[in-house]
Amino acid sequence: FSRLKDGLSKSTSRLTEGITGIFTKKKLDDEALEELEELLIRADLGPTTAARLTAGLAKTRFGKEVSPQEVREYLAGEVQKIVEPVAKPLTIDPARKPHVVLVVGVNGTGKTTTIGKLARQLRAEGKTVWMAAGDTFRAAAVSQLKIWGERTGCPVVARDTGADAAGLAFDAFQQAKAAGADVLLIDTAGRLQNKAGLMDELRKVVRVIKKLDPDAPHTTLLTLDATTGQNAHSQVEVFKDMVAINGLVLTKLDGSARGGVLVALAEKFKLPVHFIGVGEGVYDLRPFEAKAFARALVG
Ligand code: GDP
Repeated sequence: FSRLKDGLSKSTSRLTEGITGIFTKKKLDDEALEELEELLIRADLGPTTAARLTAGLAKTRFGKEVSPQEVREYLAGEVQKIVEPVAKPLTIDPARKPHVVLVVGVNGTGKTTTIGKLARQLRAEGKTVWMAAGDTFRAAAVSQLKIWGERTGCPVVARDTGADAAGLAFDAFQQAKAAGADVLLIDTAGRLQNKAGLMDELRKVVRVIKKLDPDAPHTTLLTLDATTGQNAHSQVEVFKDMVAINGLVLTKLDGSARGGVLVALAEKFKLPVHFIGVGEGVYDLRPFEAKAFARALVG
């Protein structure tokens, strides 16, 4: 929690200072409400949410003196209500051997790092984890995943750069199945500059995986870099068209002034947020908890 609070400190301080600036010794009038709405939009909560939260505050307090503390408490409560329905832990189905987790997202958003962190966590729970270096396009992605494999003691199925990603995913699934693994984490490419090519590749990966198990992938996670703010919305739209996303991971919430984007995403897409990334280290993947997040965001 303290790491999250530290991590979100930039989002928090901007919001907190803003709220204090607006509401110190001031009655709640139209001007203050307008400023608050703007502040919330700038903090990436999105115009719809900003308008709704502002109107909600006005409903009970208009014309009265409100302290920054009251405003913060109100906002924390509302943010918590918005994100609570999406704050769901990732469940691994023990009946699947393996439970296949496909991880997709734009390059640089933290796919490989998230897979490494997740592998460590699952290993710590006593599960056997296999990884597939499905970003066959980038040599660096393959070698990075191999390093995570060594670090976490998990087998990594990899091929040379340029190999067919779907073929690799199929082999990895077969091998993990034969080994009786609990979980298979599949890394993928994320070259958004070639959207059509990427879509073909991801769909093919899903198609071949389904040959071995029609229900697989059992989880398809999209990683989103919180520092990209509103860009995260278009990334959800783009990837939703390619594959059936059923979970989100918000990375780089440390050092980001954009924590508010998670609120807007929750409201708009209602996709479960399983984890948040709060650093580059192996322990820096946290389950997403609504109350802690709301408190940390608003201060
Ligand atoms: P990929 O291209 O999607 O696989 O992204 P990577 O996993 O290679 O991550 C890109 C960069 O972001 C790397 O330098 C990671 O160390 C860094 N990164 C990933 N997640 C986080 C996070 O939660 N916080 C911070 N600060 N950096 C992160």
